[in-house]
Amino acid sequence: HAKAAGRNNYQFFDQRLNQAAARRFELESNLRSALAHKEFELHYQPIIDTTTRRLHALEVLLRWRKGGSDTLVGPDEFIPILEENGMIVPVGEWVIRTACEQIMAWQGQGLAAVPLAINLSARQFMHDGLVDSMRRILGETGIDPSLVEFELTETALMQHGGRTLEILRQINGMGMRLSIDDFGTGYSSLAYLKRFPVRKIKIDRAFVRELEASAEDRAIVAAVMALANSLQLSVVAEGVETEGQYALLRSHGCQFAQGYLFARPLPAGEAAQLLASSVLEAIER
Ligand code: C2E
Ligand code: MG
Ligand code: MG
Ligand code: MG
Repeated sequence: HAKAAGRNNYQFFDQRLNQAAARRFELESNLRSALAHKEFELHYQPIIDTTTRRLHALEVLLRWRKGGSDTLVGPDEFIPILEENGMIVPVGEWVIRTACEQIMAWQGQGLAAVPLAINLSARQFMHDGLVDSMRRILGETGIDPSLVEFELTETALMQHGGRTLEILRQINGMGMRLSIDDFGTGYSSLAYLKRFPVRKIKIDRAFVRELEASAEDRAIVAAVMALANSLQLSVVAEGVETEGQYALLRSHGCQFAQGYLFARPLPAGEAAQLLASSVLEAIER
């Protein structure tokens, strides 16, 4: 009995493995043609200034319209695959280029020049051609580099060893800005904060979620704010969903906030409407 059951279990497990592998294989081959089939699109989530509650910047978030369908696949489902097979390099370049082109198109329509925050993953950051491709995109789109900020996680920064500082300096030297994403969730020594030309840190959603109920999370936010203030870094809180969280963050002196309380990531058309209305507001003032 035991033997038979064991074998069945094994076969079941084996089957599930095969299914997972087949799914993964299908996903990967669909992803391979996604760029050529123009199935990627960018959404833009407002980051607001907590002193005015006005738009400060837009974070660029990648989406995949798989097979041209109505459903959008989120980055958590496909970025790890792109990272693993290296496709993140061309896809990431497409993201940077498309985001810069979008800003220029909006400016051409008379909309406000809003800064963009673009995510860079570890493998992209480690790719030798990164700085050259950024320089090319700046030249070809004509975008003001100070409108472009790159978000890197602590983990991505730590993986590049001795070259990290050099690359960050090159990006910074072209006039673009750098921020630390998901701050507090990676392994880090904090020493990098003083060495790297970083201007901003983004407190991870994990510390914001239970801010109202958790004295520990409030202590963490207070400590991050104190650290940021003494190093002259600005702070963005991620994942702000309630007025209560927002009020607490403001009372801790957090300058910027991002989350569903203000807006979800918006398709380009809706982001443009938002820009148009913020131009109007500015005129009305
Ligand atoms: P991230 O850079 O930390 O982006 C913030 C994530 O939090 C986004 O998820 C956003 O939609 C979500 N979010 C924002 N406000 C709220 C909120 O109030 N509540 C909750 N529950 N979530 C909120 P998304 O778009 O699924 O992106 C996930 C991650 O994928 C990003 O995390 C980033 O690491 C990565 N990613 C997205 N776009 C790109 C890209 O173009 N290139 C690279 N390399 N990575 C990207
Ligand atoms: Mg980010
Ligand atoms: Mg983040
Ligand atoms: Mg994240």
